Amino acid sequence: MIGKSWIRGGALAISLSLLAACETAPLTGRNQLILLPESQSQAMGVDAYQEIKSKTPISNDPRYTGPVNEIGQRIAAISTQPGLNWEFTVFEDETPNAFALPGGKVGVNTGLFKVAKTDDQLAAVMAHEVGHVMARHGSERMSTQMATQLGVQLGGAVVGQEYAGLLGQVATLGVVLPYSRIQESEADEIGLIMMAKAGYDPRAAVTLWQNFAAEGGSRQPEFLSTHPHPETRIKDIEAALPGVMPYYESSPYR
Ligand SMILES: [Zn+2]
Repeated sequence: MIGKSWIRGGALAISLSLLAACETAPLTGRNQLILLPESQSQAMGVDAYQEIKSKTPISNDPRYTGPVNEIGQRIAAISTQPGLNWEFTVFEDETPNAFALPGGKVGVNTGLFKVAKTDDQLAAVMAHEVGHVMARHGSERMSTQMATQLGVQLGGAVVGQEYAGLLGQVATLGVVLPYSRIQESEADEIGLIMMAKAGYDPRAAVTLWQNFAAEGGSRQPEFLSTHPHPETRIKDIEAALPGVMPYYESSPYR
């Protein structure tokens, strides 16, 4: 049996730790819940990356690895975490997709080149992925999951087993969904600034997402499945462009 005082004490402890864990995303200033130490989430990212690399065929085609590394490293070098051991790997997979993990570990599928047809368009994807790492979206996602599980435990004690089961399903869904829409929009926003600073034309981001939408057809690429609707995304990017163009025009990399 769990007494009421324990529940109240537990809720107090959690709210205190949530308060202590509030952080701010770079460039956007959005408040974030981060419960994991950065070193821990980075170690988890590195482990997951190793596992993906051991199970997925890696491309050594310089037509892909050349631009992915060059563009990725250039953007990473001017990010808020230039000291991370950034790594950019091309996977042999025809799905137009890319991903980023804590610790600066980025993956790009060969299928991405069906939609990223120029260096500027590829830079839009690379900068978006670097943006996820800069804003610590992996840590945030895991923290939300932890908070949800704590909530499930407390909820289970309060309202009984059935309701806890329902909450548990919601929590599981949270793990499966890669990043939230808020995080995706934020990675777009940060990515647009970063690509412009690195000397890549941010207007190419619009073309990239148009290509993605055209490629998707009835069966949407995985990369888009949890992402904002392509039309919303393109509109948001177009609205942000006037504020971002000065970074591009003054970039020393151009
Ligand atoms: Zn993303």
